[in-house]
Amino acid sequence: MLRPFFLLVCLFVAGQTTLGAGGSSRNPVSLTRWAEENRFKAAFKAGIGELTLSNRWATLTFKRDNKRAVIDGVAVWLAFPVTAHDDDVWISSIDVEKTLRPILKPPRLETGGQIRTIALSAGHGGKDAGKQVGDHREKDYTLKLALELEQQLKRAGFKVVLARSTDQFVELAERPALAKRKGADLLVCLHYNAYAGPGSETARGIETYSLSPPATSATNDNENNPWPWLPGNRFDAENLLLAYKLQQAIVDGTDREDRGVRRAHFLELAQASIPAAYIEGGFMTNSDDANTIYDAAGRQRLAQSIVDGLLAYKRLVERRKPEVVTDTGRPPVP
Ligand SMILES: [Zn+2]
Repeated sequence: MLRPFFLLVCLFVAGQTTLGAGGSSRNPVSLTRWAEENRFKAAFKAGIGELTLSNRWATLTFKRDNKRAVIDGVAVWLAFPVTAHDDDVWISSIDVEKTLRPILKPPRLETGGQIRTIALSAGHGGKDAGKQVGDHREKDYTLKLALELEQQLKRAGFKVVLARSTDQFVELAERPALAKRKGADLLVCLHYNAYAGPGSETARGIETYSLSPPATSATNDNENNPWPWLPGNRFDAENLLLAYKLQQAIVDGTDREDRGVRRAHFLELAQASIPAAYIEGGFMTNSDDANTIYDAAGRQRLAQSIVDGLLAYKRLVERRKPEVVTDTGRPPVP
């Protein structure tokens, strides 16, 4: 009877430890001071509450009372809104550490480490059809995408592990476990969106999720309500970088709308013991998106851009010299 309570306490302590003694994930950091320390030029448009930080390596845009930031043209959802008061603009310390830093100063594999094997988890399957729009079932299209991606990844020199290769039901928890057992270096979960509620005509585009950082809510939780018992995992930096490179490559390669890098506590992400990302590759309820989902040529394009994103991630984390920070060069970040 004690076990669930014990587990909860352990997770809570783990979450607090990650934040540091007495620390809060929301501790505000002055963005203008951070910009100065990291050699960014700051421009604040008070009228629209928009702060742009730029230098020769990167451009970051933040909006007052808003969680949506833009980093080098890619939308990235922060854990907490940026605020403006006392003649300054403030960001949470956890966003500096877990959102900005992994992108501006990407993590690296240990010397000689390589990304060789990709695990693909085609969403749903068997008794679980996923989203359904008319006769179209999400589970069929995630499988088609996984099989197309398998071919393309092999051509690009990767080994591939499939969580499912037929219309079968595989438990969510089994998917990251299988990826680990088969020696995969990364886990990529493949899904499609659908939304038929109010405002559905504007619901379109690409989202890529990574696990929420410690003690924060998911992007799609409307209330700004941290979940203090959730600890993130030891791949927080890799998870976010992987999602960012995938989102960047997919939006570039497919020309679909950029709905941003988002955070969630999805079981597959939370239980992965390797870096993991979760792609929502468009809305089955939007006719432009649906064309690329149901159509083989559209799927090939989406698969190609996912391969491009994985290659971009691989290049970054396999880089050798600390001085060469990214493919374009990046500033140091504290
Ligand atoms: Zn799904």
